[in-house]
This record gives sequence, structure tokens and C-alpha cells, in this order.
Amino acid sequence: MSHEDFPTDDPTVVTCGLPYANGDLHIGHLRTYVGGDIYSRALKRLGQETAFVSGSDMHGTPVAVNAEREGVTPEEFALRHHEEYETTFPKFDVEFDNYGHTHDETNVETTQDVVRTLESEGYVYEREIPVAYDPEADQWLPDRFVEGACPYCGEHARGDECDEGCGRHLEPGEIEDPVSTITGNPAEYHEREHKFFGVSDLQEYLSGFLDRLEGTSNAQNQPREWVEGELKDWCITRDMDWGVDYPDDEELVLYVWVDAPIEYISSTKQFTARVGSDAFDWEQVWRDDGEIVHIIGRDIIQHHTVFWPAMLHAADYTEPRAVMASGFITLEGKGFSTSRNRAVWADEYLQEGFRPDLLRYYLATNGGFQQDVDFSWARFRERVNNELVGTVGNFVYRSLLFAAREFGGTPEADLSAEVRERIETAIDEFEAGVNDYSVRDVGESAVRLAQFGNEYIQRNEPWKLDDDDPEKAQVIRDCVQIAAAVAVLFEPVVPETAARLWDDLDADGDVHTVAVDAALDAPGDEFGEPDELFEKIPEERVDELNEKLESRVAEATADDEAETEGDDVASDDGDAATDLEPIADERIGFEDFQDLDIRVGEILAAEGVEGADKLAKLTVDIGVEERQIVAGIKQLHDLDSLPGTRIVVVANLEKAELFGVESNGMLLAAGEQADLLTTQSDAEPGTKIK
Ligand SMILES: [Zn+2]
Repeated sequence: MSHEDFPTDDPTVVTCGLPYANGDLHIGHLRTYVGGDIYSRALKRLGQETAFVSGSDMHGTPVAVNAEREGVTPEEFALRHHEEYETTFPKFDVEFDNYGHTHDETNVETTQDVVRTLESEGYVYEREIPVAYDPEADQWLPDRFVEGACPYCGEHARGDECDEGCGRHLEPGEIEDPVSTITGNPAEYHEREHKFFGVSDLQEYLSGFLDRLEGTSNAQNQPREWVEGELKDWCITRDMDWGVDYPDDEELVLYVWVDAPIEYISSTKQFTARVGSDAFDWEQVWRDDGEIVHIIGRDIIQHHTVFWPAMLHAADYTEPRAVMASGFITLEGKGFSTSRNRAVWADEYLQEGFRPDLLRYYLATNGGFQQDVDFSWARFRERVNNELVGTVGNFVYRSLLFAAREFGGTPEADLSAEVRERIETAIDEFEAGVNDYSVRDVGESAVRLAQFGNEYIQRNEPWKLDDDDPEKAQVIRDCVQIAAAVAVLFEPVVPETAARLWDDLDADGDVHTVAVDAALDAPGDEFGEPDELFEKIPEERVDELNEKLESRVAEATADDEAETEGDDVASDDGDAATDLEPIADERIGFEDFQDLDIRVGEILAAEGVEGADKLAKLTVDIGVEERQIVAGIKQLHDLDSLPGTRIVVVANLEKAELFGVESNGMLLAAGEQADLLTTQSDAEPGTKIK
């Protein structure tokens, strides 16, 4: 880590991965955007000059495919979704300083400009490659227009990624047994001249870049093997009409992953154009010495840690300082499925009458940023009722009510040393959260402070003290200050609630823009009785919401069966539909079960298998011996935290070789998220399971 801690003197750009203009937003999509908004608010609070930007990703084949299906132009199709996103984000208080889209003039110009620089610096060359072609439709088949088998793992793959298998990015011509998605006929490969970006020339640079890169550990570690292995050049052109035209070429457009991240620059430019370069200078950030923080979903780590920094470096732009890659989000333990309507839609959440702050809090603090987070209405209710109502709301309400009734506002007394120190600790925790790229720690600094407030008021029992006892004024003075500090530190997570609390305290300035030190400024001398900050969610609401979700899924599934559905899901939503499978018809005898030698094991070591995106190599103690087991859990678990975990192993399974690594046994895990089976008590490694 070679970077100076925040706040620094350099301007900062915080970006969120561009939502793909291809479908409606559900609350799973919101995780990255809420995380980005919290992070950028927290940076601003520390005094860091920050612009928070993003935009809609309008190009690429999924938009073109779906527009064709609807009989509208790709532009019309994508703009409709762009406008929906643009109005939805502010409803969740996700407030971008600029939100553009990749098809606007700024981005087209910036993209062509970057590509011209890559050309003039000698990073672009031409090569003949096989491109899939549909003879019946007389059309080239870029990316999503073709499906087939992954050359690496053999799984079904579509277009430019092996989305059901190893997760690799696939170059044109790589898919085996190609089939056209336009006609369903086998596609032919024809040789065709395309442009390549020489990423492989930048191997050494990228390796050094990864040493400097900050952010979440998945974004720092995963790209190592890509960069240190065989680094392939990227084909950056496609045979399509929809996209940014390749400079001075009428037939080719740029691959969507060229112009999409460049929107980060374009969106910053637009912000500068609006506020003036004295207020925020895009050029200083992107061409000189800015701090760039990318917040993305973990499925696009490779694009942001290999391809994108390579392009920035080659075109002489600033490299990113940090990449924060979030885990996926599941709904009641299963994947969101937009095609099955198995989702809580963003609009729907608001129509149910819930405030954005509650969801923001849940998404930000229910797990670490890179861990997968599960959403359920029951858990949502539990966290709102226990933490927001029970801890934060309760403390603030009783403190402010007491202060208003007994003192008409903030009592005249100095802050005690104990409370001053505790607030300073909370500020330190907040600042450490920002520097550790932990949205959760930022949020928890305020909740822990409120928890302390509850203990403090309970311990000092001001209601038992005489009116003329100076200790009474002192205790309440302290509590009012804690409430003010909670408003300041909690604002990034719950901006609307913080504003109400700030108002109740009649404090100076705007809680959205005050510096973090305002946590120690005395609130208003006079204020009236407060309102409750949060309301409890009754249990019946949860039942009601679950019923709605279930009946809707049932309806959609029925429709589904009536008509086989095409691909209409956004590309980046981790859409792993896993409806429960029916129980197998065939019964087995007890003897069959006894044939399985299943044992308790303990993981001793865990590391990724080189060259495989999903596989991890585990050393497992199964009592009688140590085993090497390969399992597809690399992206689903933090490997560093696995040693010491008890697992369940099928010990007499035939040996297998995966990516050249022997696997001697199989560990048992549940579902798409590979939830590891473990033992409830302390059965020793080697114990037989029967
Ligand atoms: Zn694959």
C-alpha cells in the first residue's frame, strides 16, 4: 500500500459500475449504488474533494438483441431504461454528482480520443480472426448473437463470457460449436480483420499496478493469476451498427467494454462542465494526480483490474487507486430471478411505504462489502426493529425528549471527558472504515456510538437526579452531543433520517455538508420535543410481503411454463435462479447409502487453483489422513478464513483431476452459494457420518 490515507489534498472520483440499460432495477442491483453513495458521502465528510459519477451502459449486444425482439431501435430501447435508472437512483438518495450514458456525445468523443491515442502510441494492431456468421440472416454474430460451448470448461457459454461455467471472458472465435441466436442455426466462422489492444505488452505494468491497488481483497487478489498467467490481447472491435464507431472506420464499432468504463471519465467531464473547473477539475483527476475509486460487482473485477488500467496507462491517464468489488445478493437464500419475477423491485419497495434509509442500512451493514448478502423481509424487519428502532431511535428519542422537557434544549454544561473521548473514537472508526474501504464499518461507527449512548444514560440515570444537581445537566448535555454525533456519522448511510435528527436538534449548518468535526459542535440551545426517528415493522407485514412475493413467483412460473422465455435479464445481477428441485422419484436402499464413506473433515489450508476462476484447492484433515480436495468455491468464500472450518467430505469418491490438480474426495455444500455443510457439535475429523 503506497497511498496516503484519506483525506488527501488530491481531488477524488468515486464511480459505480454502469448499470446495463436492459431491464428494471431490483434491490439486489442497488447494493453497489448504495455502497458507492455511502462511500462518496463519507469521503466528503472527511473533507476529501469528491465527485461521485456513473452513467448507463447503452451499448453491446444484449441491448441490440432485446431491441430487435421488441421491434424498436437499440437507442430507443436503451434510453428508456436509462431514464428509468436516472429517476430511480435519487429516490433511494443515491445522488450522483453526474449521471450520463455511454451513447452521449461526450462519451463518444472521449472514447474515440482514447482509442486514437492507443493507436498513436502503438498499442493497436490488426489481425485476422474467425468471426461467427449466420448465412441465413446474412449477418455477423458478435457476442450475445452467438452461443456454444466454452473452450476452457466445456459448459454452455454465450457470447463473450462463459456465464454458466468457468466465468471466463471469451474472445471472438473462441466459442465452440457456435449457434446463431437470431435463427437458431449453426453459425459459420469466417476470417475477418479486427483491431486488437496489446494488453500483453503491459504485463509488467499491470503487475506493479496490482501491488499498488487498494480496495477489497477480492479485487486485489483475483487478478493476480490473470496478469501473471498468459495475458491475451483484447479484440476491441465488433461487426455491428450499435455502439461507438471505431475512429475513421465505417464498418466496425468498439467493443462495449472499451466505451463503458470511459464513461467514468466522460461523466466527470460533464460534471466539470456544469460546475466549472475551479469547483472540480476533471483533468486534474484523470490526467494528473487524482484519486480514483471504482465500486463494482465482483463479476466485473477482471475488466476493472486488467483491461481498464491497461487502457488508462497506455493512453496516459491516471490509474485507479482502489477497486471495491461487492458480493452478490440473494433473496431468501436463492438468486434473484428477473425473468421469474423473483425479486423485490426497487419501485415496489418504495410503494410498500418503506423509507430508503432502511434498505440502505440493511444493504450496507448486513455483511462485509465483498461477502454475499441475503435479503429476507424477516431479517429486514429484525434489523430495523432491533438496531434502528431499538438502539439508535430509542437512544435519540429518550435523550432529546428529556433535554426538551427538562432544559428546553441543550443544557448549559461542558461536555464530559469520557463522552468527548468516546465520540472521538467513533470519528476514528468512521475514518478507518473509509480507509479500509469498508462501507459496513462506516455505518457501524454510528450504531456503536448510539449503543454506548444507551449504556451511558442507563448507567447515569438522569431521571433520578434532582433538578438542581449539576450532574443532571451534565449527563443530558453529553447525551445530546452523542445524538448530534450520531447524526453526523450516520448521515452517509441514512441521509434522510440524519437530516430530521439535525433539525430536531436545531443544529447549525446542513448535516449533508458539515465536516466530521461537527460531531463535537454543540447543538442548538433551544429545541422542542422530538419525533421518533424510526418505526417498528409489525410481524404481519412480513407475512404479507412474503405472500405477495410467493404468489407472484408462482404466477410468473406458470407463465414461464406456458411460454419458453428468452433472455431478458440484466447482465450483471448474479441471476442464479435456483428454484427448489423436486424430490427424486427413485428411492434407494440403506445399503446404497452405506456405500458412501462420509467423514467429518477439517480444512487445514485453502488456496485458489491457478488458471481456474472458480476452483479452490483445499488440504483437509480427515482423521486417518490428509487429503487434497478441489472444490468450486473460490469466488463464494473468503479462502483465508476457511482453515479451521469443519466440513463434511465424501471420502471414497473416485479421484478426479481438475485443471491438472488432483482432487481426492468431495466436500458437501448446499446450493448456488456453496454453503458448506458442517457439524453442529464437536465431532472430530475422521468421524464417520451415518
Ligand atoms: Zn468456461
